[in-house]
Amino acid sequence: MDLLWTPWRFTYVTTADGAPRPGIPASLAAWPGDTGCVFCNLIASVDHAIAHGMSVDEAESAAGLVLRGKHCFICLNAYPYTSGHVMVLPYAHLDRLAALPVETAREMMDLAQRTEQALEQIYHPHGFNFGLNVGHAAGAGVAGHLHLHAMPRWTGDTNFMTTVAETRVLPEDLQTTWKRMREAFAEQPG
Ligand SMILES: [Zn+2]
Repeated sequence: MDLLWTPWRFTYVTTADGAPRPGIPASLAAWPGDTGCVFCNLIASVDHAIAHGMSVDEAESAAGLVLRGKHCFICLNAYPYTSGHVMVLPYAHLDRLAALPVETAREMMDLAQRTEQALEQIYHPHGFNFGLNVGHAAGAGVAGHLHLHAMPRWTGDTNFMTTVAETRVLPEDLQTTWKRMREAFAEQPG
């Protein structure tokens, strides 16, 4: 059973496949563009909203955007496998690890480390998954734009999720996760 990794195949599938303007939250729909990429659309719609007067917190929470680095950002997975399921990804629309400029790759790992600390602090998990699916064949829901999944894990949660199969069990709503992650990152030493 390859359950540990296949759930990520469902990530964004409903918004990524065929839908026009994927990744744009309803409240940020004023942005008129469409890159065809969930993640590029997400960032562009947030930037547009902020440029047109929406508060940073309102726009970023609408998009589940937790943290912006220089080259990479962290956002919530809209279809979390567990509470605290986030993604670390570059702003650049790149589909291979080897394609990342060195400073982008470095920051991606830096943000992954900070994510581990934040998840530890908030959820006190038994372990973590950090995973990169490169290409459709590997299970990437959005193959064109590299994204590192990060999530806390608990002993026995796989068995639990097997039981419920594809039914999404959300013990915590996304706005709560966003707020907790936001606060945890804000508390980290710069
Ligand atoms: Zn993209």
